[in-house]
Amino acid sequence: MQTDVIIIGGGVIGTACAYFLAERGVKVLMLERNHLGCGATGSTAAIISISGSGSTPAPLLPLSLESYQLFLDHEQNFDPPLEFIRGGALYAAFDEQEAITIRPFYDEIRQMGIDCRMLDGKQAREFEPLLAHRVTSAIYNPASFHVNPFRLGEAYLNAALRQGGRVEYGVEVKDIVVGSDTVELSSPSVPDPVSARYAFSTNPAANNLVNSEGLPASPIREVAPGVSEPVCGDATCDPGEDRCDCPTDCGTPPSTETVCDDGVDEDCDGGADCSDPTGDCDAEPACDCLPKRAICSDDTECCSSKCRGGKCR
Ligand SMILES: Cc1cc2nc3c(=O)[nH]c(=O)nc-3n(C[C@H](O)[C@H](O)[C@H](O)COP(=O)(O)OP(=O)(O)OC[C@H]3O[C@@H](n4cnc5c(N)ncnc54)[C@H](O)[C@@H]3O)c2cc1C
Repeated sequence: MQTDVIIIGGGVIGTACAYFLAERGVKVLMLERNHLGCGATGSTAAIISISGSGSTPAPLLPLSLESYQLFLDHEQNFDPPLEFIRGGALYAAFDEQEAITIRPFYDEIRQMGIDCRMLDGKQAREFEPLLAHRVTSAIYNPASFHVNPFRLGEAYLNAALRQGGRVEYGVEVKDIVVGSDTVELSSPSVPDPVSARYAFSTNPAANNLVNSEGLPASPIREVAPGVSEPVCGDATCDPGEDRCDCPTDCGTPPSTETVCDDGVDEDCDGGADCSDPTGDCDAEPACDCLPKRAICSDDTECCSSKCRGGKCR
């Protein structure tokens, strides 16, 4: 039987490719080493949202809107139905610092034409009473919705099978031999490079390596050929490193908490603010609360905000 395209992996991406290719008359063969939805797709929160990382690269913004709209446009084709749950999503902040961090997210969603709202902690809890009382603010994005990810994969694949597509389970692809499309890196000031990195940071915004469709390349972090873990001691504070686990690269932490309401364990001794185990913040009026392991009756009594089994945790 003729196959035009082989798809490796039966997650949401593989099954969506199968669906949209088959819709255009392409004969697909999907190879899955295990079973449908056994990867990330089977563990996802499955919130379908118009993007809003706060720094989505420009070429991805219209793509994000388009892919969101695709769900709604194709809803009637999905068999089985996807168990849509509509109602929006909340992005919660636990303190002022997090509120600042999620703000660009809000700006970006609004820029994409969504009427999202910024709520204070009280408004957020009125909206969702199960939210922790230490949530200080939240963004409400009314455009988000939830689907059943297993049903989504099944629905995509069913449609492709109806168009003559095929699937084989228990087949693991071991190798793909590709042509010579490569990117070569060079620098006149580094004649003999031993490592390279490209745009490696959280939500990098200034990427300029794009493919023929204008889509940005993924960040690359390679310290030395074959090594991709951050290296403590390379004079760069990489994602995944911080002052606590890599002071050489990220700076030596202070010996005590210097701010007692920022939710940050500045001195890296295992407890932030009022929960500092050496009592750095005990003199603060805001820390008039019970320390870890003290007997408590509800969350409000504990510095850690958690009263479990009658003890502050
Ligand atoms: C906890 C969690 C929450 C998330 N929440 C959200 C969310 O709310 N919204 C959202 O949009 N995204 C969310 N994501 C991300 C989203 O789930 C993933 O981006 C998405 O599922 C990736 O789909 P995929 O098809 O690329 O990969 P996968 O679902 O991992 O599928 C890959 C498939 O390929 C198969 N495979 C791999 N190698 C081979 C091989 N060599 N041969 C044959 N088969 C192979 C695997 O068995 C697997 O089935 C979340 C992810 C997680 C883990």
